[in-house]
Amino acid sequence: MTIESGSLTMLEKVLLQRRRKEDRVVQNLDKQVKAYQAKSFENFINAGVRVNFRESETAGPLVGSNGKMLGFNEYLVDIWGEELYRVSVSLRQNGQVQIRHLDGWVKVSEYLCHLKVKVDPHYTNGTPEMRSDLQSQWWRANGKAFPLLQLPRELRDIIYHYSFGSKIEPYPTNKARLGAKAKPQRGTALMRVNKQVSSEIRSLLGRQSPFLIEHNRIMALLLSSPLRRNHIRRLELALSHKEFINLFGFTFPDVHYETRWQAKALRGMQLKHVMLRIAAPSLITGSVIFDGACQRVATGWILAAAWPVVKGHPVEIAGFVKRQQRVEFEAACLVVKKGFEQWNGLRVAVGHPEGSLGDYDEWVDWVEGEDDGGVRVVEEPSQEAQRFVPDCQVGELPPRCECGLPCTAREWTEE
Ligand SMILES: [Zn+2]
Repeated sequence: MTIESGSLTMLEKVLLQRRRKEDRVVQNLDKQVKAYQAKSFENFINAGVRVNFRESETAGPLVGSNGKMLGFNEYLVDIWGEELYRVSVSLRQNGQVQIRHLDGWVKVSEYLCHLKVKVDPHYTNGTPEMRSDLQSQWWRANGKAFPLLQLPRELRDIIYHYSFGSKIEPYPTNKARLGAKAKPQRGTALMRVNKQVSSEIRSLLGRQSPFLIEHNRIMALLLSSPLRRNHIRRLELALSHKEFINLFGFTFPDVHYETRWQAKALRGMQLKHVMLRIAAPSLITGSVIFDGACQRVATGWILAAAWPVVKGHPVEIAGFVKRQQRVEFEAACLVVKKGFEQWNGLRVAVGHPEGSLGDYDEWVDWVEGEDDGGVRVVEEPSQEAQRFVPDCQVGELPPRCECGLPCTAREWTEE
């Protein structure tokens, strides 16, 4: 039965609070509600279970075995903060309060099971931070003994995901970040729970969240373990122009940069997404090659340098890149990806395990070598990659901007 809930005056609220302190029945009911909330994260984010009990106007006293008054035998239950249900309560021998429901006496948890799940809007509409905050509230509500490992894996994964946020910044305090402020990585306390949790987190993070790499040295640290390389599925490389060239390797007329091992390691990884985020054009890049350079040419060099190690991966180019350059590069990567997948399909069909892009490169080299008595008929990879470099001007360092619309930070457009 529902009745309208009137709003309480300040005085009524104070009186109610004072009385509630002495009402052992309400205390027990509240305790059972808390236990119910703590049972699962779904219960916790069900806004409906933030229930309030207060004695009804027709309530009589509920007396314990020692004759002492403990509370009342009828309460109004305030659910969703708006509806009031009238419930009768009784006391079991063990001191637990029960609620009259249908034809019997049930525990509060059983009563609450009949509540519709109405998820807290803070959870559904909130930012990842708000969700993470709810997670930690739940965590605190459960104390240290919370049986995380008894939850289904999918729910644990949700917890991990919100605890760590949408991107992982590995080695947040590493001095490779130089002047950059050390950022504490969220959720690391969870990693210390036990081995199983930390391995589940590693595997989940590797599958779902991109590792954000802003320094070559961080990338080297991250990829140094083959085991970790096997777990990582998403990478976002947000490097300076100079660091991109240092990583991928490139040959300028007067200077040659060797491809780093961590760039080559990408050929052996099974990546679901690689983002190359191109930095803004700048007059102060820390490199004479790129100070005030034409952004279109600089990006072309970076893409040409990246091509041999990222082709065939699902690549997305972001940041300060001209639309045409981005579209062409992503499409070229997709063509290689399709060839690679076909090749892997054939391998699996004849009973071989799936190969890596590195294996595919070797096979392509071999096939192309066979075609013409061992002489390669296709262009050298470096030449093949040159197609991404605009041919406006070469030879001058830094490359002067001759674009119709200058490629400067101030006048930057994607077109
Ligand atoms: Zn330009």
